[in-house]
Amino acid sequence: MGKGHVFIVSGPSGTGKSTVLGEVFRRREKLYFSVSATTRAPRPGETDGVEYFFLTEEKFDGMVERGELLEHARYAKCSYGTPRAPVEEKLTEGFDVIMDIEVQGARQVKERMPEAVSVFIAPPSLEELERRLRGRATDSEEKIRLRLETAKSELLEAEKYDYVVVNDDYRRAAGELLSIIEASHITED
Ligand code: 5GP
Repeated sequence: MGKGHVFIVSGPSGTGKSTVLGEVFRRREKLYFSVSATTRAPRPGETDGVEYFFLTEEKFDGMVERGELLEHARYAKCSYGTPRAPVEEKLTEGFDVIMDIEVQGARQVKERMPEAVSVFIAPPSLEELERRLRGRATDSEEKIRLRLETAKSELLEAEKYDYVVVNDDYRRAAGELLSIIEASHITED
């Protein structure tokens, strides 16, 4: 049984990344979604251990100190990190692993695992991104502004990724991501 591959997926919040990823998981088996640790509060509908492991700053810092995170970063005043053990375990079991992480974390994973494939999901335009962020309406105005500013600087990072997928239509974008995953297996041996 071959080892799985790592796919780093980044994109400013509001690009519809989770919808695209949801579709990818529906259409492909043997994929593992890397559940991150974070210090941000759960949004309505989010469950601990499913979307994230919601931790206190102390618990998060403990994981950093013990080297339990593959990468970690600060984003919009909160900490986010990828637990290392489940990723290694799933790769050994032959699962492909998808990490939904921001640009600083993506850089760290690429340094540690140069064979990881990085994919940037971009919104069709900044105007559309703002519309989507406001449409979500679960975040305060201040948070929306902060995320929009962060998004602008993140978009400049797109060129450093192996692939850029524009999310104009989530099914089409998911199809592109699936092709990228399939291609990585065809070219490996
Ligand atoms: P949100 O709070 O909207 O769920 O996520 C905010 C940002 O944090 C997104 O860009 C998401 O990709 C990123 N993120 C989620 N988990 C991780 C992680 O484990 N590490 C890093 N570096 N970024 C993460």
